[in-house]
Amino acid sequence: MKTARLVVVLGLCTLTVGVMPALTTAKEAAVSTPRRIILMIGDGMGFGQVSAYRQYADNPATPALESTVFDDLLIGTIATRPSGDSDLITDSAAGATAYACGVKSFNGAIGVDADNKPCETVLERAGQRGKSTGVVVTSQLTHATPAAFYAHVSSRKNIAEIAEQFFTGTGARKVDVAFGGGADDFSASQRQQLQQSGVQLVTTPAQLAALKQPPTFGTFAAAGLPMAIDRDANTPSLASMTDKALALLDANPRGFFLMVEGSQIDWASHGNDIVGVLSEMQDFATAIASARRYADQHPDTLLVITADHETGGLSLGRDKQWQWRATLLHQIRASAAGMAARVLAGEDAVATLQALSPIIADDADRARLNASERDADRLEEAFADIIAKHSLTGWTTRGHTGADVPLYAFGPGSASLRGHHDNHWLGQRLMEFVQAGGPAPSAANRSMTDRSKTGRSQTDHSTTAKP
Ligand SMILES: [Zn+2]
Repeated sequence: MKTARLVVVLGLCTLTVGVMPALTTAKEAAVSTPRRIILMIGDGMGFGQVSAYRQYADNPATPALESTVFDDLLIGTIATRPSGDSDLITDSAAGATAYACGVKSFNGAIGVDADNKPCETVLERAGQRGKSTGVVVTSQLTHATPAAFYAHVSSRKNIAEIAEQFFTGTGARKVDVAFGGGADDFSASQRQQLQQSGVQLVTTPAQLAALKQPPTFGTFAAAGLPMAIDRDANTPSLASMTDKALALLDANPRGFFLMVEGSQIDWASHGNDIVGVLSEMQDFATAIASARRYADQHPDTLLVITADHETGGLSLGRDKQWQWRATLLHQIRASAAGMAARVLAGEDAVATLQALSPIIADDADRARLNASERDADRLEEAFADIIAKHSLTGWTTRGHTGADVPLYAFGPGSASLRGHHDNHWLGQRLMEFVQAGGPAPSAANRSMTDRSKTGRSQTDHSTTAKP
């Protein structure tokens, strides 16, 4: 019964794809649909994280609270619930799959729908339309958010399979520009395979800076990159990776789809580490400024910024105190993880807190730090909780929350995204933009696009595309 209906839907869908280019004049396409799409995901970035960053980024020398790169781009909100009746709260896998495929799926799902069937992603569709594709993250390249754009596995934990699908999923390389962490997730033979197919492998900021053309595969850490505040000169910023990705993808006249993730806003929020959150927000905001500059210079670019979910239940203020101490946070020079690392390297925990922050440890703080001994997790939690207490930062969970997240957009098509939407709705619109934007595909490309639909079982992405 269900199958029969799906066959009809797929038939209609293929017909629509064939007809659509004829209904769209080149001029209309240039005005209403973007040729280049930059999707930026602040993992775990709720309104609390954005508000905290605005206070943190404020110039104390001026009376006004300065606006951030986010503020003039705000156009709506996104609800993030995954598929199913009971789970209100999404993980990053289902959250990314909603944006990548335009379907709600279950927690853990990487590029598969609620029935566990592979769903075509906006990145894959872009590639088939002759566009270039890119993924830029500070997590491992195999982590849930980036993986959902190029892989199809039922569990985010299946890292080996995700790595394999990075370039062999359809027998061809899918991602032209990939920058991030996770070097250890790719085997020597996989690297060799990439190199033999002409992909430039890079591992240092200098090599990154020297890149002149795609394809390229850059890994700058064995696992995730260090948090922004803890980085040294061996680790590139998210902005420098984004700038380079845009410069490399720019050459394709058919345009591109680029996904950029501020991956560790989520990790720091899981740790209830407000200093880590603010440094990661700063890293993400600087990358947004880069993308905005590119979009200003290339009017056929749609820039969309959102989050997959909120993490931590972050609040500015706690314990009935009517303040939040951004200026204190400004003077702290390492994340909780960074402080814990120093203790593990041999430093005294209380001395580390005093050396890297203006916080005067009270008796309870000293007792907590000393009780944490040399256990990395306990130390990290202790540093994070002490900094939260002294800065009056509230956290309600070390997990995700079901709160709505902000939606920002700029460029052609952005006006059509206004309002409050479900996360998969945004994925469907991105798919439409990729389908409609840029020159019509060659006959060969078009048949590839049609063929790719045969495995799909969920919502059609094309029938509502505006002519
Ligand atoms: Zn998370």
